[in-house]
Amino acid sequence: MQPEAERPQPRQASGSPWSIRIATISGIPIRLHFTFLLFLGWIFLVLRQPEARMSVWLIPAIFFCVLLHELGHALTARRFGVKTRDITLYPIGGVAMLQGRRPRPNEEFWIALAGPAVNVVIAILLIPFLFVFEGGLPWITLSLLDKSLLEGIFIANVFLPLFNMIPAFPMDGGRVLRAYLAMRMDETRATQIAGTIGQFFAIVIGFYALFGQQNIILMIIAFFVFLGAQQEMQAHMGLSLLTGKRIGDAMVTRFRTLASAASLEEAARMLLEGSQQDFPVVFGEEVLGILTRGDIARGLASEGPTGYVSGAMRREFRRVAPEEPLERALELFNEGDTAPLMVMEGERLVGMVTTENLSEFLMLQHARAQSRV
Ligand SMILES: [Zn+2]
Repeated sequence: MQPEAERPQPRQASGSPWSIRIATISGIPIRLHFTFLLFLGWIFLVLRQPEARMSVWLIPAIFFCVLLHELGHALTARRFGVKTRDITLYPIGGVAMLQGRRPRPNEEFWIALAGPAVNVVIAILLIPFLFVFEGGLPWITLSLLDKSLLEGIFIANVFLPLFNMIPAFPMDGGRVLRAYLAMRMDETRATQIAGTIGQFFAIVIGFYALFGQQNIILMIIAFFVFLGAQQEMQAHMGLSLLTGKRIGDAMVTRFRTLASAASLEEAARMLLEGSQQDFPVVFGEEVLGILTRGDIARGLASEGPTGYVSGAMRREFRRVAPEEPLERALELFNEGDTAPLMVMEGERLVGMVTTENLSEFLMLQHARAQSRV
């Protein structure tokens, strides 16, 4: 359906625990959400009705087209150097989760447009086959029960882009609209306008679903669109609070370090003594690695309390400089790993940025912004 907005992810880099990886296409994990199984069960029941002429292959074929749609987003994003963490298929559509750097407005415009464009191309390619095998184009109706496989796939690929281009977040149309506006005005204002239009459409769709169609799926979609627009506006609000700020403004400067020769017992004690959860491991002035709360627990389980900190720490850690923009920290956390960032001046450790202190910083900025009436 849409490239989902970024927000800080839990420590694991993999997607939702309610989804399983079914394939990997050009390096992008493809995941299936578990609600999909319920959906397939429902389809199975529908197909057992005597009047159903629908092919059992229609639903898999439509979801293959949804997958191609999402790959359209993901591969266009890649062309701009924006990575995709994974693609998850839900019964109401797919989500390509972008990660790392946020696309610029002109990039977002093309990324959002690429998904629906894939379906338009599929629909056009099917036209000659429809004339040869079905004697012409089918009536476009919402019910696919009495359609042939070819007609069903065609109708789905006409509907997908039409529906997705409704200018409402998190539909692609909402993103295209925001990107278009953001090329002409301040991005925060563009997001507010696009978000408000999105919520207006959500309410219209909701009323139509409730009183016109009495269609439960459409009602669920309207609900998600309303929520999506809200989230998008809030996420952008958070981002706008970061602009102009530097890593040095938000970093933690009072923290404890562990000597590489310290035991895991000492590390565990330090963890209990204060609120700090992740510890830089040092040898003299030199930073050797980082020991997170999870590493301490794993180390204690495998090495016991006398094990060395240096054996349990992770040697790869991410370093940033105090003068780098604060948005950089959010980008790094969005890549999936939420271990703290080491703020280094040359080889000297001057601070840390954790997801906790970044969200505290955002909260305080938000409070400050509200007090300036
Ligand atoms: Zn899309």
